[in-house]
Amino acid sequence: MSASPKPVKGTAQRERAARKRAQAKADRLVYTAVDARDKHRCRVCLEYRGLEIHRHHIVYRSAGGQTTTQNVISLCANCHLVGVHQGRIKISGNADERVVIRCRATDTTWAIWEGQA
Ligand SMILES: [Zn+2]
Repeated sequence: MSASPKPVKGTAQRERAARKRAQAKADRLVYTAVDARDKHRCRVCLEYRGLEIHRHHIVYRSAGGQTTTQNVISLCANCHLVGVHQGRIKISGNADERVVIRCRATDTTWAIWEGQA
């Protein structure tokens, strides 16, 4: 009768934490590239916001959107929190190539940005 070795406590937690750190590092690289592309300007109103710029996932992370330069766009707090997340505007497209901003109330295209901001 031999006792099977006990699993080392905390291994799964350490592996989860390591994966989370690796993902955070990958995300920071994407945000750095987005900052270089958008130059800390809101892609809706074009205001320069410096380090206060928000990064918005065009396809929400909750809907499976990835942290890639194609899916992340720079927005000021107002356009992000009031415009997008209170449902006034809808942003779609590929942030590296062509972004479409629509007004939900009138269901009209408000702006189309192609290329860099
Ligand atoms: Zn803005």
